Amino acid sequence: MRGVAILGSTGSIGTSTLNVLRRHRDRFRLVGLTAGSNATLLAEQIAEWQPRFASLVSDAGPGCLLEAATHPDADIIVNAVVGFAGLEATLAALKAGKRVALANKESLVVAGELVRQTATAGGGEIIPVDSEHSAVLQCLSGHAQRPRRLILTASGGPFRDWEHERLAGATIAEALNHPTWRMGSKITVDSATLANKAMEVIEAHHLFGLSFDQVEVVVHPQSIVHALVEFSDGSVLSQLGFPSMELPILYALTHPERADDAGVQPFDPVRAGTLSFEPVRREVFRAFHAGVEAGRAGGTAPAVFNAANEVAVGAFLAGRIPFGRISEVIEAALADQTPEPADSLRAVQTADRRARNDAERLVA
Ligand code: NAD
Ligand code: MG
Repeated sequence: MRGVAILGSTGSIGTSTLNVLRRHRDRFRLVGLTAGSNATLLAEQIAEWQPRFASLVSDAGPGCLLEAATHPDADIIVNAVVGFAGLEATLAALKAGKRVALANKESLVVAGELVRQTATAGGGEIIPVDSEHSAVLQCLSGHAQRPRRLILTASGGPFRDWEHERLAGATIAEALNHPTWRMGSKITVDSATLANKAMEVIEAHHLFGLSFDQVEVVVHPQSIVHALVEFSDGSVLSQLGFPSMELPILYALTHPERADDAGVQPFDPVRAGTLSFEPVRREVFRAFHAGVEAGRAGGTAPAVFNAANEVAVGAFLAGRIPFGRISEVIEAALADQTPEPADSLRAVQTADRRARNDAERLVA
């Protein structure tokens, strides 16, 4: 029996993780639950699971995330917190030698080097929950050789074929209407701007030790092919399935093994229908371009990108700025801030705070 703690248990990934655990009570014991502010749902979860540790960040403060992340009875920490707020818990869990099933991609975006070093020093391991990265990991299993190239797929979001002018004035409801995935509001907007896919390129760079030239993105509206992995002989492997986060979550818990599971809709290639692929329109989806370039620049640039994005997405969802302004705020914040080495938590936190202040000013 492996002990599991979930950070962000009331969100989309958190509740999907509980669905997975409900089917695998023989393998996993839920030992910890933490949530941001949804007291009602957390209380229901506590009543069902009777975990040893449970806490609400809005009551107990962010320290409770670290307590759950290092709980002695937890072997696996599912980090399903959204945003920069998840970083310290990722570091704490890795330092304590835990497996981190990482949905909180922001941890790797803002502090990829630090997260990797902390894992090595503490004996912890990072297993991605993000579906594209889970697909890559599954394709790599059993291969000693590094891949030559990764191609991550992007659904393209609700504005895949919109012209620039129409996109600039997209409404909140339109941005939240994702064609293939049901997720939390922040990542749904990130999928509409394609900032999410830039974060996934940075995530892949750190997880698989590949250069930015080796990680490509292609738009694939059906979200059936989750990633493509090319080896040195030109062979390309892929992982396919109808969109569901429960499979990558389960795989992150059991890797390198697989568990018997019937939770995911059986694949039917005929029903999946035609699979199509198209290039990313980088000149339209400027947040994607800015994010990848921030990743290439390195240092604290990805932390600036992330902070500006979090502020801009928050402002968009609050009705304070139009959709088209999100990428402009990101670009302006990146132009304002000079990247510095991201070699300590403090350096990353400082860059995050500065970029947030700058982005708040830009939004106002
Ligand atoms: P969500 O908004 O549905 O849930 C977020 C969870 O984090 C909630 O439990 C919330 O209470 C908690 N939370 C929010 N702010 C917090 C804070 N400051 N401190 C502590 N807890 C806080 O989001 P989600 O869609 O579940 O996404 C979670 C993470 O997983 C994000 O990083 C996202 O990019 C990533 N992810 C999600 C999906 C998906 O399908 N939803 C897929 C891939 C990756
Ligand atoms: Mg993804």
